[in-house]
Amino acid sequence: MIVAIDGPAGSGKSTVARALAARCGLTYLDTGAMYRAVTAECLRLGVDVADQAAVAAVARDIRIDFGPVLEGGQSVSANGRDVTTEIRTPEVDRNVSAVSAVPAVREAMVALQRKAGETGDVVAEGRDIGTVVFPAAEVKVFLTADPAARAHRRAVQREGGDAAKDASAKADAAQEAQILADLQRRDKLDSTRAVAPLRPAEDAHHIDSSTLTLDEVIASVVALSPELHERDASNGR
Ligand code: C5P
Repeated sequence: MIVAIDGPAGSGKSTVARALAARCGLTYLDTGAMYRAVTAECLRLGVDVADQAAVAAVARDIRIDFGPVLEGGQSVSANGRDVTTEIRTPEVDRNVSAVSAVPAVREAMVALQRKAGETGDVVAEGRDIGTVVFPAAEVKVFLTADPAARAHRRAVQREGGDAAKDASAKADAAQEAQILADLQRRDKLDSTRAVAPLRPAEDAHHIDSSTLTLDEVIASVVALSPELHERDASNGR
């Protein structure tokens, strides 16, 4: 089965998708990491992200490999080079929306994502999974959270914490304000681009994670599908 989880930056998609994959025996696919890997390669090669032809050439040739999903995340390599840390830098954050708006980049990434989906049981997270990549996904979720909650989570994460697990976790206020501004800028670019903008599929279930714990979000996703429920139950819970 295919589970599609879309939503804006910092809505908790990765945490939810990873936990769901582990609990329900699905393969986790982080499509944002793929656009980030293309961006990191462009920056490394000195390719101007405004040069669409050059960016497209990087995307067409790139090889992206994912490592196993571990508690703290998943390793990613681009053309054989480990880019796990590099793809999460503020510089990649600032440039990824320009890269992901290039139609040829999306074409190349969507082809890789559909190939990954051929293995069958996948939970994929991104912006256009339910609308473009897997429109026939059995379960579609559009995960949102208010911008302040999303910025707070990201800020805590940058400092090595996990706001989903620790409600009292604090982060530097100035950094949190900067992250909020960056998130809102990226959301705007992602939702107003011409090709595959961030938007919910018509048949997506909307979940607002602002005041929910991780377990509550997962329980509401599992409740959407008898198959997910069955998989979760047979995984020993
Ligand atoms: O989810 P994450 O924040 O890692 O995504 C990084 C960027 O990749 C997004 O801001 C967006 O520009 C792009 N993206 C996309 N389509 C997806 C996943 C991510 O355009 N399916």
